Amino acid sequence: EELVAEYRDHTPRSAAVFQHASTVMPGGETRSVTYYPPYPIVLSEGHGAHLLDVDGTEYLDLVNNYTSLIHGNAYRPAVQAATAMLTQGAVFASPHERQLDLAELLTARLPAVEQVRFTNSGTEASLLAARLAQRATGRTTILLFDGAYHGSTAPLLADDPNVVTVPYNDLEATGQALTQRNIAAVFAEPFLGAGGVIPGTPEFLQGIADQAREFGALFVLDEVQSLRNSFSGEQGLLDLRPDITVLGKVIGGGMPIGAIGGREDLMSLTAATTKGHIAHSGTFNGHLTAAAAGAVTLRHLDEATIAGLNLKAARLADDIRRVAAHAGIDVQATRAGSILNVHFTATAPVNAEQARAVSSPLLGALHLALLREGIYTTPRGMINLSTALDADDLSRVTAAYSRAFQRLADP
Ligand code: PLP
Repeated sequence: EELVAEYRDHTPRSAAVFQHASTVMPGGETRSVTYYPPYPIVLSEGHGAHLLDVDGTEYLDLVNNYTSLIHGNAYRPAVQAATAMLTQGAVFASPHERQLDLAELLTARLPAVEQVRFTNSGTEASLLAARLAQRATGRTTILLFDGAYHGSTAPLLADDPNVVTVPYNDLEATGQALTQRNIAAVFAEPFLGAGGVIPGTPEFLQGIADQAREFGALFVLDEVQSLRNSFSGEQGLLDLRPDITVLGKVIGGGMPIGAIGGREDLMSLTAATTKGHIAHSGTFNGHLTAAAAGAVTLRHLDEATIAGLNLKAARLADDIRRVAAHAGIDVQATRAGSILNVHFTATAPVNAEQARAVSSPLLGALHLALLREGIYTTPRGMINLSTALDADDLSRVTAAYSRAFQRLADP
């Protein structure tokens, strides 16, 4: 309560803008995930690791637009590349060499990706992957893991009639579902992102790939978030060979994008030159600002840069656990590469049900306490790093978590 009162005191302009927005935009927002009570902070600008809100308060950015900004906000090379395209025409009703350039970067990095087709978002890419799997197998059912997020549209949600859901990290349940239902595709994230940043074990990820193959289903690996964590994706790390890879976020360098990639024989089902092909259009598919910004972003995301970022994230996870323990609170910081999630529990959850079971009102309180410390995080406890954060920034982050946990411990 005290935290909410303080929050209101420091965010009067955010409150006013939000209230005004609520008159013309349902709930005052246009992305469900960005809402939290009593109302979200309204941001106005971002530069590198720094965000500014409409009340003039600065924050260190640990959200990076939900992992898509690997080099921070308004990353100059990406801005320059996108601006150059804007001045030459942002998108044409024709193929373009900028699309070819990004496609080649992706095929060079991802071992299972021979060809690439672009969309405007990861959601659209997942939908296209589902359609492709249904066409390739002649089946309709999609297998998803509980707590997975591939997009917020019906065919990708657990309550869709064509979807079966099984617990993550559970090979036996996956095998059972594959024997019982005629499944077109097994969709998997290398770690549950929205479900609490819960890594899949190598045995699980390799196991479901094998099971899918055994039962004639396609294995669809959603690398929308995981590509920021390793140069050649999780598929490169674990030598997985997904039939289709779903991509998005960092590959657009901060601009809207999504893509699917895979073997030529499968991908050719979407080719206009293929008889009876899957028609897939979109006025803004392969937008050139995104292709140009994404290409330079990936070129600046080499093995060493990724390793450095992941190491910083591992240290931060340890620091968060340590300062929480110092405040007398049990906390686990689960981690996948440079993405972390705080859980108020003594043992890390291994699936979404366990994560939900330990979900605590303390997460919301921690979020507000960190905002007061000038640290921008997510209400569900997920944070991620960008290359724009320096060592001093990260020390500030640890100190802020320490004070925030102290506040939660003795309010
Ligand atoms: N897949 C994963 C793993 C994601 O994390 C997301 C977005 O958070 C998506 C797909 C959907 O991508 P988009 O938000 O670009 O539609």
